[in-house]
Amino acid sequence: MSRIDPLLAPLKNANRREVGGVTIEVVAAGSSRVKRMIYPAGFRWSTHMKSAVGTDLCMHAHVGFLARGQIEIRYADGCTANFTAPEVVAIEPGHDGAVIGNEPAVMIEFDFESDTIQRLGMPEAHRHRP
Ligand SMILES: [Zn+2]
Repeated sequence: MSRIDPLLAPLKNANRREVGGVTIEVVAAGSSRVKRMIYPAGFRWSTHMKSAVGTDLCMHAHVGFLARGQIEIRYADGCTANFTAPEVVAIEPGHDGAVIGNEPAVMIEFDFESDTIQRLGMPEAHRHRP
């Protein structure tokens, strides 16, 4: 009996690419895009992705669902956020991120391309409320 893991199997109708070891699959849905990101064990944004992106920190907002694995986010001011599947994720722009543990992190995200931060109602950067 074959066992196909639906969290890792190729996503139907997706535009698929790999950047910095991360498998990114994107499907358009209405005016949004639904993405499945598979981050391998050992992945760290500043080590594996930074040179491909060209910014000091990841300046994207990430809103979605961590379906498998564990991630740690670190903002410029040193604040950290940890997420362990199953967990809803809301990550503000201006962060480094790493996969914790020995299994890949599988994240389902929603975005609006260049308009993602505003359309999701996320802050422009990590900050603390007064
Ligand atoms: Zn902070």
